[in-house]
Amino acid sequence: SSHSRIINFGAGPSALPVPVLEEAAKGLLNFQGTGIGIAEISHRSKEFTSFVENVSQLIREQLGVPPTHSILFTQGGGSAQFSAVVMNMLARYRLLHPEAKPEDVDMDYVVTGSWSQKAAEEARRLGGGNVKIVADSRGHSATGKAFDNIPPHESYKFSKDPAFIYYCENETVDGVEFSHDGSSPTSFPFHLLPQDSLVPLVADYSSSFMCRPIPRLADHAIIYAGAQKNVGPAGLTIIIVRQDCIVDVDAAVKCGAAPVPITLSYKTLFDSKSLYNTPSVLAIYMTGLVLERMKKMGGVEYYEELNRKKAGLVYDVLKEGEERGVFKPKVKARSESWMNVVFDVLGDGAERRFLEGAAQRGMSGLKGHSCECVVNGIIAGIRVSLYNAITEEQAQQLVQYCREFIEQETT
Ligand code: PLP
Repeated sequence: SSHSRIINFGAGPSALPVPVLEEAAKGLLNFQGTGIGIAEISHRSKEFTSFVENVSQLIREQLGVPPTHSILFTQGGGSAQFSAVVMNMLARYRLLHPEAKPEDVDMDYVVTGSWSQKAAEEARRLGGGNVKIVADSRGHSATGKAFDNIPPHESYKFSKDPAFIYYCENETVDGVEFSHDGSSPTSFPFHLLPQDSLVPLVADYSSSFMCRPIPRLADHAIIYAGAQKNVGPAGLTIIIVRQDCIVDVDAAVKCGAAPVPITLSYKTLFDSKSLYNTPSVLAIYMTGLVLERMKKMGGVEYYEELNRKKAGLVYDVLKEGEERGVFKPKVKARSESWMNVVFDVLGDGAERRFLEGAAQRGMSGLKGHSCECVVNGIIAGIRVSLYNAITEEQAQQLVQYCREFIEQETT
């Protein structure tokens, strides 16, 4: 039963709502009364194609995606989008500027953590233009090396007419996130973007998709996310793309662009209604169930309030621990993520004690930073992921444990 389940604070794949898992178990045996299980049914059946249509509609409604933007489904995760964004946007740029030489093409990256850094590295690997790091958190950290902040607005240096501008809304590993308060100095600097409002703005929302409304969604050209944090199992990638960014990549080749693998082309996905090849049927199904549930609960506005509360609770206890010399938060004030809270536990063997105590209380997934974040050969730190499926009560249980731990360490 659900009572025997561990509280999973893992960063992804992460916890899913129990009612959804129970519903999905039924769907595995019999999808919508078809007598065929969801993992067995044809992706071209009318039941499934209309289900996909509905999943798209649930995202459109809840996020308020305007008619200028299409919603596409694919596989390959956020990582495949690191490549797809570059290839599709370079093809677009080439169609607009057939005479441009690769050395004249800029790709602007805002680097606030390990994932945006990885994305920039992939752009460099693929070539076809200059990767420009137009803002970098590390230059604003005490050591010059830490991703522990959102850079100040005055430090952004966007190019004049880049092929695209890229940022990662929530850095899952480093726990750094842009503020959604437009007047905050740690918000994304929309007001500094190049005057030509059609320069594609690209955002990786992998670990914050559907956790709250997306500010200035219509000002983005591409927003993408792997499903496996807030909305479903791994295997599904969701892309919201402005229609002028769905380009004929083969026509771009005639103008000198690099060919784009057919499954990475946004036009392929758009033309086939995201069914060019066999999609991740089960992941789409479970994501649909999560989105239905979200709608019933009150949509992204409901989750915004819930997530604000959960993050508030956890950051408050971190502060108590900091004052007592037990915890050390890693991220600067106003740059902290609501979804991934990262901190150190101070003292000899204290981190191990913290994790053991948590395990005894049925909490897991806290051991910080995945293998991407090995610092000097040590996987260090604690990370609490507070995605949508984590309830306020579960966050409270963690906080209660943190209070006990602070007492235990200081007496
Ligand atoms: N971007 C962010 C912000 C992520 O958190 C992750 C994975 O955790 C990725 C990209 C890579 O996604 P995937 O593992 O789906 O390729």
